[in-house]
Amino acid sequence: MKASVGDAVRSSGPERLSITTLKGVGPKLSERLRRLGLHTVEDVLLHLPLRYQDRSCITSIDRLRVGEEAQIEAVVIGSEITGRGRRFLLCRLEDGTGLLTLRFFHFSPAQQQWLCQAGARLRCFGEVRSGYVGGLEMIHPECHRIESDAPPVDDRLTPIYPATAGLQQFTLRRLAEQALECLESTALLPEWLPPALLTQLRLPAFAEAVRLLHQPPVDTSVAELESGRHPARQRLVFEELLAHQLSLRRLRERTRRQVAPPLIGGHLSRRFLERLPFTLTCAQQRVLEEITADLVQPRPMLRLLQGDVGSGKTVVAAASVLRAVETGAQAALMAPTELLAEQHYRNFHDWLGELGLEVAWLSGRLTGKARRIVLERLAAGEIQVAVGTHALFQESVLFAELALVVVDEQHRFGVHQRLALREKGRNEGRCPHQLIMTATPIPRTLAMSAYADLDTSIIDELPPGRRPIKTVAVPDHRRDTIIERIRQACRRGRQAYWVCPLIEESEALQCQAATVTAERLSEILPELRIGLVHGRLSATAKEMVMAAFKMGALDLLVATTVIEVGVDVPNASLMIIENPERLGLAQLHQLRGRVGRGSIESSCVLLYRPPLSQLAHARLAVLRECQDGFEIARRDLELRGPGEVLGTRQTGAQSLRVADLLRDQDWLPIVRHTADRLLREHPNCVEPLIHRWIGAGARYGQV
Ligand code: ADP
Ligand code: MG
Repeated sequence: MKASVGDAVRSSGPERLSITTLKGVGPKLSERLRRLGLHTVEDVLLHLPLRYQDRSCITSIDRLRVGEEAQIEAVVIGSEITGRGRRFLLCRLEDGTGLLTLRFFHFSPAQQQWLCQAGARLRCFGEVRSGYVGGLEMIHPECHRIESDAPPVDDRLTPIYPATAGLQQFTLRRLAEQALECLESTALLPEWLPPALLTQLRLPAFAEAVRLLHQPPVDTSVAELESGRHPARQRLVFEELLAHQLSLRRLRERTRRQVAPPLIGGHLSRRFLERLPFTLTCAQQRVLEEITADLVQPRPMLRLLQGDVGSGKTVVAAASVLRAVETGAQAALMAPTELLAEQHYRNFHDWLGELGLEVAWLSGRLTGKARRIVLERLAAGEIQVAVGTHALFQESVLFAELALVVVDEQHRFGVHQRLALREKGRNEGRCPHQLIMTATPIPRTLAMSAYADLDTSIIDELPPGRRPIKTVAVPDHRRDTIIERIRQACRRGRQAYWVCPLIEESEALQCQAATVTAERLSEILPELRIGLVHGRLSATAKEMVMAAFKMGALDLLVATTVIEVGVDVPNASLMIIENPERLGLAQLHQLRGRVGRGSIESSCVLLYRPPLSQLAHARLAVLRECQDGFEIARRDLELRGPGEVLGTRQTGAQSLRVADLLRDQDWLPIVRHTADRLLREHPNCVEPLIHRWIGAGARYGQV
């Protein structure tokens, strides 16, 4: 399915040379190449080496050192096939300075023939090891037979390509060589960047860069090549980042040109805000004004709302939703999990219900007649707001007039889902406004790449009265001290959370089951009222436990990560998180945000199971030192890299071929600026650049 879409796009784009035009590529080989994503000659040229070997000289056997890679040239003096059970081929070589053994565990009859021919002259490249029976050996060296008048050794570094089963380095090298020849004779890889720009950025031309990366002269720095910092590599990195930026920018331009219902009014949302028991923070007000300014336009809003845990994004979303409702249209709120969706539903139901509005809950669990009724009323426009998971965007769900889509925790969805969702709201040529909320702050550098098609608003202030949360990491064997701390806190009238990451005990994962933990804690702390909540409880049961905790009828709430969202109990001042090393930093930060909501000094204990890896140590340290979600995300990014932070589904990060968002982040401002310039001054370069790097993915730009 995926491949066919890609192929369709490929064939509709500029002319491309099929990989089968290269010599020696038949059906079998082209299938293997396809597995590496190589379909065209161009793909072969952009399939860059991972490593390089220096085979520019020949080392005499007496100068070989164990552990180093080297190339030797020597004559076969004897060989044997030996070994009980698993057989292997031993081949002894001699070069006038010493002896060397080659060891092969698998070998073809042809190889066997020339490896066993005494007097044959071989050139071998491999890692030198000390042999089983003394002396030096190489296991499976790259090895070929040469004549005594063989041409001199390579004057270039030898590329090592990413490969797959059944595909030899030799084959990939041969294909790359042929492809480079095509580069000379055809306009296969045209230069799309203006020469003035290249001079200014001190980057080589495209063809020159590609050639160098496949066939670097021997004096090229291998370290620079392999780390990706060589100018030739950077040239491709820059172009790839630019192509992504252009594609997102184009997507955004096309969206801007669409029509959306202007949401004029504001009476309902004012009424809602007046009824709240608090006033909006300055940051909430500012952000709401930014959103409102977008919503009154006849063009679709595309806005990313970032705000730390507890910064009050939901209220802002509700006020925005009410603008849609006031014009007689509908709004939808999508969350990535049932629990998050449920929590939002409860909030919206309470807030909007008071204003006489209907809010529906659509999840995968809603089935049968109940579901049918909701769908009918939604299609008839009798329900103004729908809250749910991605179930909201199934084909059977139809809206009378959807004017605003709010997506919570966008980072858990891919860009693709976001776009699919926009399609859903398309109605008689009109497109809904979109508000995307996230508490996993996306570092600015990433926001500029993966999210270049969105405008951004930031709530950079927490509601008043929040106190910093004191965070400590404590090893598991000091559990008793921690339990004592809970006893003390509850004696003083405070409440506490105990969070266990999994629902059921699983030996393999070494996570404590909430159920078992709750039982044990009840034995040790008989004087406390202990509640238990996890995802397998029915919605009603969960609600009852939560409500009891909120009322103060429970002292300690043992929970799974269910409470990540929405629980708001100002009197809770202590949180224990078990196995914190198993959770993401953003999630830990979210969890921790459940305490510190009142005016009391609060703390969070990360109860880890030693030994911790160095990385795990470093990550827990970030939480101890840092309260600010943005800073936490930035440091998480440094520790783990962007793919992990944003989740693997994130297309912006995932589909990069040569660039690395972290290593290459310094390019991003320049890329942005260059994209502006190209769109203005060289618009005809845009399409080919996008096509070269993104190909199939670019179809989303064709809205
Ligand atoms: P998040 O940004 O994490 O989604 P929420 O919208 O859930 O945050 O808000 C967290 C809590 O703070 C909620 O209980 C909400 O009612 C409360 N809250 C939101 N805005 C304010 C404010 N301006 N003043 C006081 N409390 C607020
Ligand atoms: Mg929230």
